This record gives sequence, structure tokens and C-alpha cells, in this order.
Amino acid sequence: MKLVGGLKTNLETQQGKATLRTCFACRQTAKKASLLRLVVDEAGQIWPDLSAKLPGRGVYLCMSEVCLKALSDKRLNSLRRDFSPQLPQWNVLQERMFDMLSLRIGQLMTSMKRRSAIGRDAVMHQMWDKKPLLIMFAADAGDAVLRQVTDAVEKRRQGEMKSLSHTKVLVSLLDANALGLALGREKVSVVAFLEGNPIEKFQQNCVWQMNLSKVFDQTKGKTR
Ligand SMILES: [Zn+2]
Repeated sequence: MKLVGGLKTNLETQQGKATLRTCFACRQTAKKASLLRLVVDEAGQIWPDLSAKLPGRGVYLCMSEVCLKALSDKRLNSLRRDFSPQLPQWNVLQERMFDMLSLRIGQLMTSMKRRSAIGRDAVMHQMWDKKPLLIMFAADAGDAVLRQVTDAVEKRRQGEMKSLSHTKVLVSLLDANALGLALGREKVSVVAFLEGNPIEKFQQNCVWQMNLSKVFDQTKGKTR
């Protein structure tokens, strides 16, 4: 499958079709919105395009943990068929993707905090409501909070249709202090983002960042 961005993409979107793209690294095909677009600039630098709107031709990366772990400069070399990437670049690209995701996650959190329930009591209170929720724990949230909230999530899910699961749960890479800082509080071990927020997009960015963080750790382990 030919990897294209630009005009064809816009036309397909207008026609309302679920546009599919192939991950250049693992060759899996998926909905375009579930993949990260990368663009290669004139200097051969590869940039993550989180808004998928940068001009120029792009390629798509699925950001799964398995795929990221298998990525390397050797694989990036396959881009030479259509681009002139500067190599080696995989280490730099990982950092770029990670930093850009951090930035975007921070921005989204700032915009989402107005429609959020911050802290255990506020989150527990939201469980009674049937509206969609994305619950996020700090990386160092204690066992007691984790257990209390996840038990409540389980109960809440039992009342939901499986196909439209409205309760999503994430663990942040941020600890309670950093999560608090992002939300304008001293320390936050758990937060629920409420309906009306870009929950899907936010969750996707967090999962991508988490997958990347696992690859970072693996790379560091190898070089030591
Ligand atoms: Zn892939």
C-alpha cells in the first residue's frame, strides 16, 4: 500500500469513509486516526505530527509497544524508498515523540481541568453519574486509593453495555506532585476527566507516551 498524505486524505475524509493507513514499521493497517503521523522535512529530519495537519507527505506509525520495540535505524532506513531521512535518528526521534506528547498531554490537561473531578472524594462522587469518565491515577497513587477507585469502576462497568464502555482508566507517568501541578493543586493521586473533554485523544496520547517510555527503558538497559 502506498503511503500518502495530503489531497487523497482530505477527499477520503470528506466522503466519510474510515480512512486506513499502514504502519511503515510493522505493516499493520489501522484507522488513520489511531496512528501517529510523521513527516520528513527537507533536511531529512523526522517529526511527529500530532495534529496530522503538517504539510508535506507523511508516513504512519502505530505506536504499539511491540512495534516501537522493534523499531531501529535499520527500519527507518526503509523510508529511503520515498524520503531522504538523516540516519541515525531513532534515538532523537524517540525523544522528539516523547517530548511532543508530554507537551500535548500538558496542554490537554490544562484545557480539561475545568471539566474534571480532582481527588478521591470528587472522583468517587462521579461514579454515581452515568456519563463518560476517564479516570487517571498518579504514578505513585497509593494502593488504598487504587483499590477503592478501581472497585468502584468495576461496579460502574457492570451497569454499562460492554460495547460502549464509558469508563476508561489510565495510570499517568506523572507522580502526585506533578499531576497536581498540571491541575493547579498541591498533590493529586486521582482525577476524573468528565464528558465534553477530548477523552479519546487524551487517552491515546497517554498510551503512546507510556509505550514510548517502556522502549526508552529497554534501550537504556541495553547500553548499560
Ligand atoms: Zn507498527
